[in-house]
Amino acid sequence: MLDCAKANAILKLLQGCNSFTRLRKIQAQVIVSGLECDPSISTQLINFCAVSVSVSGSLAHAQLLFDKMLDPPTQAWNSIARCYGRNGCLEDARFLFDNMPERDLVAWNAMISCYSQAGHHEEAMGMYEKMRNENVGLDGFSIVGLLSSCAHVGALGLGVQLHRIACDKRLVRNVFVGNALIDMFAKCGSLDDALSVFREMRKRDVFTWNSMIHEFGVHGLGNDAISFFEQMLLAGIRPNSITFLGLLCGCSHQGLVQEGIDYFHQMSSKFNLTPGIKHYGCLVDLYGRAGRLDKALEMIETVPSRDDPVVWRILLGSSKIHKNVATGEKAMMNLMRLGALTAGDCVLLSTIYAGANYPSGFAKMRKLIKTLGVKTTPGWSWIEISNQVHKFVVDDKLHPDSMQVYEKLEEVTKRAASAGYVKEEAVILNLLGSWSEGGYSETPSSCHSEKLAIAYGLAKTPEGTSLRIVKNLRVCKDCHSFTKFVSKAFNRSIVVRDRVRFHHFKNGVCSCGRLSVRRMVAIDEEISILKRSRFVLQLKTHPMNR
Ligand SMILES: [Zn+2]
Ligand SMILES: [Zn+2]
Repeated sequence: MLDCAKANAILKLLQGCNSFTRLRKIQAQVIVSGLECDPSISTQLINFCAVSVSVSGSLAHAQLLFDKMLDPPTQAWNSIARCYGRNGCLEDARFLFDNMPERDLVAWNAMISCYSQAGHHEEAMGMYEKMRNENVGLDGFSIVGLLSSCAHVGALGLGVQLHRIACDKRLVRNVFVGNALIDMFAKCGSLDDALSVFREMRKRDVFTWNSMIHEFGVHGLGNDAISFFEQMLLAGIRPNSITFLGLLCGCSHQGLVQEGIDYFHQMSSKFNLTPGIKHYGCLVDLYGRAGRLDKALEMIETVPSRDDPVVWRILLGSSKIHKNVATGEKAMMNLMRLGALTAGDCVLLSTIYAGANYPSGFAKMRKLIKTLGVKTTPGWSWIEISNQVHKFVVDDKLHPDSMQVYEKLEEVTKRAASAGYVKEEAVILNLLGSWSEGGYSETPSSCHSEKLAIAYGLAKTPEGTSLRIVKNLRVCKDCHSFTKFVSKAFNRSIVVRDRVRFHHFKNGVCSCGRLSVRRMVAIDEEISILKRSRFVLQLKTHPMNR
């Protein structure tokens, strides 16, 4: 056999290769065929290792192959760097990137995507700076990777720049770039821009529609989510289970109980999709938020995997909203039964007890919290100011302008107080003792990251500029009220994206507002239908569909 034919045969084998054992067999064949020094074969082998990260031993094998190459081509450098990046060894990937004899756009894009996928968004965006300095142009892949990081940190300024570049390069109509732009604008709280990109796109896929529906959902615009869903169907795009998550989330946040139930039914009856635990969770949340805790509880009983702590935790959250001790205790007992009880759950229940004036229950929870020990996620907030993202943590002392920030915060708090701000939940917080920023509560003296970000934003931007903040946890009640009054006192619009949803603060009001329960008819009947539908779900046909 000629070398070329042998090489082709090996490349063909590689295409079907799905395990490391098989890779080693192919490698043996490479050696037998005398193709060990063939750079294209070695590059392909390394590339295989880069895409099969889950196969253990692939990284070491790739390094071995790479070391054997005398003068590795750029492609091999890219593959080995990607191999390290995908295995989470970002520093090694960067070292290889920095030491490549020749860097093509693939190398830059690989580095951006490694950073972005690993959640190192600041570094990903730093690559853009470097590309500009070295006069490297962007292509669709670079733009998609960078936009994903912008979306995560809420870097609207850089996102807008990338949008302009995409327009110049006529890439906006590319479905991947369009989807990434929609995602970025929506996650930065700029729904109008997301919408205009959506309208400009010539080709839209299920991801495009899902993005819009999901973003309407988390912005609390259930009616718009529904309207887009209907348009999606008219456009002939088949929804998937992600579509319904966005839709149900929108219904839940806007209090569209009946609509939520209808769509939940349609999943199986019309679209042959089996609702997952997240969909059931949305429905429990839908009832819970609307104050129908009894229905939420009945709903949990219809969940096929009833022993999933997620639904009980959602019920506990709803019990807190409606200060319902009995349901809260029930949720808690079930979390305990499942061995899934966390200190955070106890904090929630203790807040319910405190709100309902149950000192004995409160004391019990305090004890339990101490036994369980508190492990909370440290809170942080991002704010973008003139294309640079600043990160603040709770009680931040690390930011270079820290002193200035605290001084400004004092002034901001005073002005917010004169507009009507009163620190909330101080009694509970005092009783709970020392809590770090855990998404549930804080120490009275501690300063949550978004307050610092807001103070910094007010100090660093001209009057009238909107502030956009991204936070990793939920906004606590106190910070929520603080931000409301700041928006009024300083006449600024402030957009906060927290772990769950968006809050648009303007003139002392937040978009999340009060739950408007519009239609609460025939819920009892719906519950019984749901119970029936759970049964027929197993049969894959639905009586309502006939
Ligand atoms: Zn807070
Ligand atoms: Zn809000």
